[in-house]
Amino acid sequence: MTATAAGTGALDVEQIRSQFPVLNRRLAGKPIVFADNAATSLKPACVISAVQHYYTHVCANVHRGVNVLAEEADRLYEEARKNIADLIHADPDEIVFVRNATEGINLAAHMLDLRPDDEIVCSLTDHHSNFLPWFVKAKVRLVSPNEQGCLSVRSFMENAGSRTRLIALGHVSNVTGMVSPVAEVIQEARKRGIMTLVDAAQSVTHMPINVKELGCDFLAFSGHKMLGPSGIGALYAKRDVLERALPMLYGGGMVSRVTQDGFEPEPIPHKFEAGTPNIEGALGMGAAARFLSNLGMENVYRHSRELADALIGELSAIEGIRTYPRNASSERMPIASFSVGKMSENDVAAILCNRYNIMVRSGVHCAEPLLRHFGAKGLARISLYLYNTLDEVAYIGDSLRKMCKFFA
Ligand code: PMP
Repeated sequence: MTATAAGTGALDVEQIRSQFPVLNRRLAGKPIVFADNAATSLKPACVISAVQHYYTHVCANVHRGVNVLAEEADRLYEEARKNIADLIHADPDEIVFVRNATEGINLAAHMLDLRPDDEIVCSLTDHHSNFLPWFVKAKVRLVSPNEQGCLSVRSFMENAGSRTRLIALGHVSNVTGMVSPVAEVIQEARKRGIMTLVDAAQSVTHMPINVKELGCDFLAFSGHKMLGPSGIGALYAKRDVLERALPMLYGGGMVSRVTQDGFEPEPIPHKFEAGTPNIEGALGMGAAARFLSNLGMENVYRHSRELADALIGELSAIEGIRTYPRNASSERMPIASFSVGKMSENDVAAILCNRYNIMVRSGVHCAEPLLRHFGAKGLARISLYLYNTLDEVAYIGDSLRKMCKFFA
């Protein structure tokens, strides 16, 4: 099922592509270029079959039933948790299943039991999901990027004061693909006893992550962007944080004993998973995590860097295209937003699809503060992943060049 064994070097992209059934689709008789991966990724056959296997052969609820099917469901569910934990070098009981990165960040905000005068530091480059959960519960201090779009460690720490409970860090921007200096910020924050959360929705897909080395208190991500199903995600939190925190939901599945006077919660992580979970989603996400680990995240990362360099190179060389920020100077993953002359971003996306079979996204990308900072109302966005090729990047460049000649 794997394309190349972990640690062996370059990805065998053709072999990888053969495992993604959607890539067999033809529109008007021609192949598609899927360049909307920051919105959601395609799913490999092993993820589809993990979900199908559950429905076809198991189909029992989790939570320690004693019949054979229920025991199998429990085993598969906990194996999936372990695969996800392994991907980020966590312990399995530090992984809480949630619906998506958004729910993970909301759960972390709940766990912190914030007061209205507590402060949270996040950045203008963040996704709305790493902004609104803090905005409604505390005072938010927003760090701005410099002209080149970079966030400095100093700007985070200058915004952190005695009331700062947490620094919430977007790891990779879903608009610019720029990588934030999370390791350095976490290190400084820990010196000052400030907790940290990493929104890894766009980084767990492309980069090796080791939560033990990073030392963050929380890390949230979604299954659907990392080749897994939608409606499932994970929140990593340090063991002592999880042990101290109160659940957000109460009910079946999270208690070990209930009397007329009270109850004893299950140990972590189950005390945070009340109710019947998205079992098939968890199994699919577990299969996706194993797929990525088998490829080797170092190899995935190298391919993503190559795609990013090629993509930014193409876009910046085309007259009529403006990329944001203009002269980005930090490390980037293969995500880039741009405008084409005076064309609306929706027209750009529609033409790329209708004439060239290239699927991209257009809009504000759940990052209104950042787009306002750029002075843009909406942008088109290209985002690539491990099944995209350098030939596709060249094709995207040629198509944009033709479009600019004609429309811009
Ligand atoms: N953070 C970032 C950086 C994202 O790109 C996204 C999704 N676009 C999210 C959080 C939220 O992810 P989800 O919608 O899966 O909860």
